[in-house]
Formats: sequence, C-alpha cells, structure tokens
Amino acid sequence: MIDIHCHILPNMDDGPDYENEFMKMVTFAVNTGITHLFATPHHMNGKYLNPKHKILDRITIMNEKLQLTNTPIIILPGQELRIHRGLLTKSSFNEILTLGNNGKYLLLELPSFEVPIYTWEILYELSLQDIIPIIVHPERNVEIINQPNLLYRIVQEGGLIQLTSGSIIGHFGNKIKSFTEKIIEHDLAHFIASDAHNLNTRSFSLHQAYDKITKLYGMNKTFYFKENAELLRLNLNIKLATPIPFRKKILGIF
Ligand code: FE
Repeated sequence: MIDIHCHILPNMDDGPDYENEFMKMVTFAVNTGITHLFATPHHMNGKYLNPKHKILDRITIMNEKLQLTNTPIIILPGQELRIHRGLLTKSSFNEILTLGNNGKYLLLELPSFEVPIYTWEILYELSLQDIIPIIVHPERNVEIINQPNLLYRIVQEGGLIQLTSGSIIGHFGNKIKSFTEKIIEHDLAHFIASDAHNLNTRSFSLHQAYDKITKLYGMNKTFYFKENAELLRLNLNIKLATPIPFRKKILGIF
C-alpha cells in the first residue's frame, strides 16, 4: 500500500517530536501493509515553515536510518502546502515540494472554513506550470460541506481530491463520514490517505478505510484508489472517474 499524505518526520510540524516516535510510527505503518510513505510536512499554514530543501535533507537522513535497521519501507518526499495568494511568486514557488519531487502532483490544503476566492486563480496558474494540485481532506472544509459543488468545480478546473482514511471510518464524526461517502459516490475522489500525525489520535488507518470502501462499494472502488496512488508514485497520469455533480442539497442534515 502507498500512503500519499502523512506527518511522520520528527520535529518538523505537528507530527512526532522525536526520532523514536518516528520509528514507532514507521513500524506501525509497515505492519498495516504500507510499503511507500510520502512524508508531507505542513508548509505555510501559519504555524510551520518547511521549505523544499529542509524536507529533502531530512528524508535522506531518515531513509538512511531505515536502511540501517532493515525496515522495509521507503519514505518519499512531499509537502502539504497551505494555499495562499503569493504561492506562485518566485521565492515561494522555489520552496514548493511536489510529491516525489517529480514536479507533477502537489498536496494543497485549503483553510478549514472556506474556499478562498483566489483558489481558482491558483488552480489556473498551477496548470500553466503543469502542476496538478491534490486538494487534501475537503470533506472537513465548512464551505465545501455547505456547497458540495465547489468540489465538482475544483475537479473540472484540474484539481484532484484526497479524502482522509479517518473520515471514512468515522473518526471525525458521522456528518463528515456521510459527506465523505457522498463524495465517493459522486466519483469526486481520487485518493485516500492517512494524514497520520501520531499513533494515538491520528494514526494510520488506510487499511481500515480500504476495508470499509470494499464493503460499501466493492473491490473495484478500492482498486481504483490503490491504483491511483501507485500511478502517482510512478509519476504517471492517474485514472479519472467521470465526476457527477451534486444535483440538490444532499446534506439537509447539516
Ligand atoms: Fe496533513
């Protein structure tokens, strides 16, 4: 299994503080079946700055440690970049780290409560750079919950969607869980990832989420998500399901 989003590098952000915690997290991830893990520290989220070279340097060191301990997992570079107006200025752009440092896919985080008006301009500007943004955990964004067709527009404008495994198995409550299911049913999701931060409150639950998806939608849906993560790792084009717009306000319960 490939996990494209987690906070596992020690002392970088709100992931583990110490190397021994990193090792415990890695061991746990291996035991759940993960073979490749994209380490994606927060960058520009108002609290943490983790520019490209800082992350690349740390990943080299941590992979050396994993080799020394014969731990069967590969840590790949990435970054969870908070969207901001100046994202494409030269100095900011140089700090961006795409997944695998391959220049193709970028984890992009929206603020928790809104979809900023400049989002569309950023999506367009990224497309001019041949960078495909993957919007992380939109199922927890308040404006998207209230206006789910914002997701349809994001996908129409070239964005991809990553849902968090914890949302699928109910860690963020029933409302988020049912909205997550609606997103999958509308073929608006492309990846599932753990977004793990620790082994207590926000751990690796990708295996559980895939089990749940198989139960709800069958093996093919799980294969779709797993294959997309593999295609991403290989820096290939992912499979795009045809998205279905939300026809009416499906979340009267919200
Ligand atoms: Fe994250």
